[in-house]
Formats: sequence, C-alpha cells, structure tokens
Amino acid sequence: MKAIVVGGGIMGLATSWALARSGCDVRLFEQAALPNPLASSFDEHRLIRHPYGDHRGYARMIDDAFAAWDLLWHDLGERLYAPTGTLALSGNGADWAQRSAATLAAIGRPMQELSVADLPKRFPMLNATGVERAFWIDTGGVLFAQDIVTALARHLAAMPKVTVHAGTPVRSVDPERGRVITADGAIHDADVVVVAAGAWIGRLAPSLAARLVPSRQIVVYFDMPAADRAAWSRGPMIIEKTGDVGLYLVPPMEGRGFKVGDHEFSRRGDPEAGREAHEDEVGLLLDRCRALFRGFDRWRTERLKVCFYTVTEDERFVVEKQGAAGWIMSPCSGHGFKFGALMGLELARTIVSGRDPAVHARWAAGLEGDTPS
Ligand SMILES: Cc1cc2nc3c(=O)[nH]c(=O)nc-3n(C[C@H](O)[C@H](O)[C@H](O)COP(=O)(O)OP(=O)(O)OC[C@H]3O[C@@H](n4cnc5c(N)ncnc54)[C@H](O)[C@@H]3O)c2cc1C
Repeated sequence: MKAIVVGGGIMGLATSWALARSGCDVRLFEQAALPNPLASSFDEHRLIRHPYGDHRGYARMIDDAFAAWDLLWHDLGERLYAPTGTLALSGNGADWAQRSAATLAAIGRPMQELSVADLPKRFPMLNATGVERAFWIDTGGVLFAQDIVTALARHLAAMPKVTVHAGTPVRSVDPERGRVITADGAIHDADVVVVAAGAWIGRLAPSLAARLVPSRQIVVYFDMPAADRAAWSRGPMIIEKTGDVGLYLVPPMEGRGFKVGDHEFSRRGDPEAGREAHEDEVGLLLDRCRALFRGFDRWRTERLKVCFYTVTEDERFVVEKQGAAGWIMSPCSGHGFKFGALMGLELARTIVSGRDPAVHARWAAGLEGDTPS
C-alpha cells in the first residue's frame, strides 16, 4: 500500500513510522524543516499523566500510550522519557483533581489523597496557599518532546520504506482521489492520504476550520538558583486547577528546562503570525506561581515560548476518514502529544487492516465502550 502523510509533527511522524512498520511505502511531506521548530510538538517537554478529569476514555488509554512509547524507544534505541509521578491539586472551588481521582478509582487506578497540611513536608518546594485538595499517583512523567521528534525524523530518514520531503508545503489535498499537490505544482497520488497538519489544518481542510480552532498558548521557562533546580529535578509534575488558571509545572528532568504553563485555551491567533509574547500576558499564571512555589521571588523568567495547537469544543480528538482515501488526524486540544505513538500505531492498524473508520474515530475521541481492536 502507498501512503502519503502531510505534516511532520509527532502525529505525522508516528503515523509514518507505524505505516512503514506495517509494510506501507510512505511519503512524508513537511512544509518547513523536519522537525519544524514552530510545530506544536517542538518544545523541550510534554507531560503524560493518568489524571484526566471526567475523560474516562483518555484515562484508560494512558497505559496503551505508555506501551506504544516503549515500542518507539525500542526502535529508536533510546528512552526519551523521565518518570516524575503526578501531583494533582485543586482550590478556589475547582474540582478537577477530585473528578480525576473519582474517574481513576472507577477504572481501578486509584489516586492517593494527601493531607493539604502535610504537603509542604512531603514537597518542601511548595507552599499550600489556596490548595483545598491534593491527590497523588506514582505514574506519569515528562516526554522529551523535541528530542523525540528529532530522533523520529532521523529514524524515518533511515527507513527504506519512507521518503521524507522536508521544506515541501502541500497546497491542496483531494481525499477522494488520494492526491496531494505541493506548492511547486507537483502531483502525488497514493492509496491513502493522512493529513496531520497541526494548527495549520484549516488551510488544507477548510470545512474543519470551525471545529479545529487554533489556540495561541504561552509557556514560561524559569531560571532559578541551583538549589531550587536540584530540588525540583526530582519531580513531581504538578497539575493544578484553581478556577483562575489551569497551571501545569514541568520539572527540569535530566537537565531540561523548568517550565510552567496555563492550560486555559486562548482560542485565538494564527500559527503563521509572529511568536513574540510579554510577561503581562501571563500575569495570572505568575501570580499563582508566586503563591504556590517557595522561593519564587528568586526565580527569573528565562524565556517565554509561544506555541499553537488546535482545540475542539469538548477537547476530544478528531481522527476521521475523509472521502475514499483520506484521513484527517488532529488529536490535539492541548493534550495530544502523550498519545502520539499510540495514535500513529492505531491509525496504521486501521488503515492496513480495514477496521471500521467510525469505530476508530470514536476511540480516538476518547469515547467509552469502543476500542479499535
Ligand atoms: C504549550 C503547549 C503545551 C502542551 N502540553 C502538552 C502536554 O503536556 N501533554 C500532551 O500530551 N500534549 C501537550 N500539548 C499538545 C501537543 O503538543 C500536541 O497535541 C501535539 O504536539 C500535536 O502534534 P501534531 O503533529 O498534530 O501537530 P504539530 O506538531 O503542530 O505538527 C504539524 C506539522 O504539520 C506541518 N504542516 C502544516 N501544514 C502543512 C502543509 N500544508 N504542508 C506540509 N506540512 C504542513 C507543520 O509545519 C508541522 O510541522 C501541548 C501543546 C502546547 C502548544
């Protein structure tokens, strides 16, 4: 089978890898360098964690996601992941941590509730200001995202069944005929075309632009005294909802940067626009950091990074068949990287085995009761 994949972020790379492993001849088109530093997948890290609010389907998928990463580590010959455990906090009336704990208890992966008063004893880097409930689970950690896409791009370049076309924007896609036309006017045909164009997807699939909304997000990298960095370099990751911000903290595992971000979606912006950001845009997030982290006044903002992803209304992924030979692959909504290897493997299985595309779409949307196998 001949396959074309458009987009060299984690989704396009993992799908190319999985299709080639399944015996397909794959041509991968990426508009920029591979990997593209402006892609959603290109940042020092992305988190993988079991707590998932009410999204039972995605919480259940995490074990399969870990297994898929293990297969990738095997093929790459290196593990680009560090475990940290997951600390979920809530305050100010928000109940995401409680709902996550209830969901995980229901699927047999219980979290442990921690006493808020004891938090600073167990994690001396934290103040518990504003925290009402705290839950812990040993699983979860940091995927070294830009190292993963870099290693995967290198791996694909060495796979005999894959041809990589970097610096080659695709201008249009005909999902009925299995055809793409590149910016230079060249026509390429295949049995299947997978479009994994991240925040640019609305340009290639305008009918989906209203469902898949680009969202400009800012993360903050901090410079901090060596003692603080050493303390945080043992974890944990923190996911916190307080009602004002949806803070996540990525500890500086294995020498990587120390980062916080706000999971609240901006639902605005254009991935082609400038990527400048100012500290006043993250004022609420910095206020929350000041309240939550001990010694925060000694920390300095090292850099702000602007990154785009697509969001859907209900944060569910869109992986859907289009026409006779096309697939749209947009498993994002700000939480897709952790499922990158799994999404690629499962889409390749569906394409190669002829599994029901509707069942696949429901599974990727995290809807219960369906598994693609
Ligand atoms: C700030 C931030 C924090 C996040 N945190 C997490 C997290 O902790 N955990 C998690 O699991 N996920 C997280 N995510 C989400 C995750 O990064 C994304 O879901 C994932 O990287 C999306 O991958 P993708 O391949 O779909 O898109 P991208 O990585 O954006 O790749 C799309 C690629 O398609 C290319 N392209 C576009 N149009 C064309 C064209 N016409 N022709 C050729 N090529 C084209 C682009 O150049 C790009 O390289 C976060 C995202 C952001 C921005």
